[in-house]
Amino acid sequence: MPCAFHIQTTAGPGRRGQLVTPHGTIETPVFMPVGTLATVKGIPQDLLEEIGPEIILSNTYHLYLRPGVDTVRKLGGLHGFMSWPRAVLTDSGGFQVFSLSELRKVKEEGVTFRSHLDGSSHFFSPESSMEAQIGLGADVIMAFDECTEHPADARRTRESMELTLRWTARSKKYFEDHKHDVPWKGLVQKDAQSDGAATQSLFGIVQGGMDLALRRESAERTIEIGFPGYAIGGLSVGEPRHLTREVVEATLQHLPADKPRYLMGVGTRAARHGLLFTSEGRISIKQARYAQDEAPLDPKCPCRVCQRYSRAYLRHLYAANEVLAQVLNTIHNLSFYLDTMRTVRQSISLGDVPRSPLAARQ
Ligand SMILES: [Zn+2]
Repeated sequence: MPCAFHIQTTAGPGRRGQLVTPHGTIETPVFMPVGTLATVKGIPQDLLEEIGPEIILSNTYHLYLRPGVDTVRKLGGLHGFMSWPRAVLTDSGGFQVFSLSELRKVKEEGVTFRSHLDGSSHFFSPESSMEAQIGLGADVIMAFDECTEHPADARRTRESMELTLRWTARSKKYFEDHKHDVPWKGLVQKDAQSDGAATQSLFGIVQGGMDLALRRESAERTIEIGFPGYAIGGLSVGEPRHLTREVVEATLQHLPADKPRYLMGVGTRAARHGLLFTSEGRISIKQARYAQDEAPLDPKCPCRVCQRYSRAYLRHLYAANEVLAQVLNTIHNLSFYLDTMRTVRQSISLGDVPRSPLAARQ
């Protein structure tokens, strides 16, 4: 049985809900920290549990190349391998093949590409992506899609959307035939809540470039194939921010009101670049003006960084390129994002129409 999704309250387009997975219940709307290589960079898992995300995002392309899916599978899937008892989502690898690898060749069957690590040749298809994602054992996995580049003309956008739809159907077929091969099968079932998921859940991905009519068609035809949740893909590919919002809003209205939705590819690596989010706006900690600033990064933030350190110290660590800079900056930013989403959920419960998640993150 795939994940269950319960909506508790709605306010305008905002929905407050719970996504029940084999590795815990996730309060939505949620921000998923990025753990590309089975680690949220710089943060050990016990500290991550304290910061509080209920789900993290990991990356099939990277883990397939290193350490390899078989290794992760033998060590209990991602949960066992990285010692993370809460939920995980993996992407299909499609986006990274299109954005990171060189000399890729797209055919009906799948994509041949060269590793960005050592130039070795590899092949991903809907079937091999499902096989990899089942082996990695995330709670939510994604259909294999082609991320349409931007800009793309009308013909190219349609052809790409049609290819994604065929790959989506193949992804579902392979998943349905092999979903019981997940490395933790049987382990979680007995502890799961009565309405909890006992298998992985495969989500479909809506493409269609920046063409709103194709977005609608892609949504409708993906829904016909049928999934327990739907993602909006193909965004943050170089288009202006206002266009991202326009496409998100136009696509959302064609997705089922009672199913979870996942906006892909709008994550950020701000912390590593010294860009910190606070209740008073963005702070670029590298600036000289903070060199003797005794104040906490964000006086309103309860995180352990803001409770203990000054802006001056954080600025020094960053300027000196100390490892601790990335750790502390990431702890604060993650805490800030998770607090922001907590506030969004409370607003929805109180009946306030929330700002868009894109606005909340800026
Ligand atoms: Zn903080």
